[in-house]
Amino acid sequence: MKSQLYNKYSIYLKEKYGEKVYKIPINLPVTCPNRDGVCGVGGCAFCGEEGTGFEMLSNQYSIRKQLNENKAYIGKKYGAKKFIAYFQNFTNTYMPLEDFKTYMEDAIESSIVEIAISTRPDCINEEYLKVLQEITQKTNINISIELGLQTVNYHTLSKLNRGHGLAEFLDAVLRIKNYGFEVCTHLILNLPWDSQEDVIENAKILSIIGIKQVKLHALYIVKDTLLGQWYKTGEVTMISLEDYIERVICFLEYLDPTIVVQRLIGRAPKENTLFVNWDTSWWKIQDKIEQKMKEENRYQGRLFHYTNGPAVKHFLDE
Ligand code: SF4
Repeated sequence: MKSQLYNKYSIYLKEKYGEKVYKIPINLPVTCPNRDGVCGVGGCAFCGEEGTGFEMLSNQYSIRKQLNENKAYIGKKYGAKKFIAYFQNFTNTYMPLEDFKTYMEDAIESSIVEIAISTRPDCINEEYLKVLQEITQKTNINISIELGLQTVNYHTLSKLNRGHGLAEFLDAVLRIKNYGFEVCTHLILNLPWDSQEDVIENAKILSIIGIKQVKLHALYIVKDTLLGQWYKTGEVTMISLEDYIERVICFLEYLDPTIVVQRLIGRAPKENTLFVNWDTSWWKIQDKIEQKMKEENRYQGRLFHYTNGPAVKHFLDE
């Protein structure tokens, strides 16, 4: 059996920074081009008014205040001294360039070792990447960019009203990689229109394009969203927890073993929702996934042998 079932983020961070590092969420007063009419209205079918983040401080607080309050709390609870400033909610590159520069610079201080920026693939632009490049050159702070993709199935993306397809994601990843920043991709493995085949294709495309990290979520259904309406009328149904667990394991098996896995399932608020994580806590689901992997001797990268012309490899072995 493999010593590590999958490439865990906490271990990766410890090796990279030499000690435990924690992410501190920062909430900016920004919106999203899929809500304000630039590329869509109403947002993604699953996105509620609060956006995608929760458990965050008010976006009316300054970056310094959010950092200090969260650092005091997390630092005390876990004895942490180094942190990642995580611009989490909505689309954190969707703003005038000068504002973006100011926000990023405001997050810089000695205990911050990395800035992580969550955004949409269609909001990655060279000018914004150059701002980040200047920051790394001046300060040595690492930059990572978290791209919401959710699935490589562009038919599903269209049903979700994402306002972008797979091509925009590929374009964004290639551009970001030119600057040497790490890319984390967010995926949802239980989207109602996706099959096991799509799950495998997710793993293959992320592995081939060379992203560095992946973050998995299970779809949760917020009241008063389009998805909520579909769920209530039975237009969409959710797969079982057992099926979700199998999808996650299958995804990991096809995933390049060097990709870092930030999480196997997200935490989600119970309030204002119709469906959340099969009414099971996220860590119990994580335990079940790990237990099944151990029992069945399955691990990340077990089926990662589809690259570099696998059909001709037998000629080379002869
Ligand atoms: S891109 Fe993100 S913030 Fe924008 S509507 Fe979709 S989930 Fe919400």
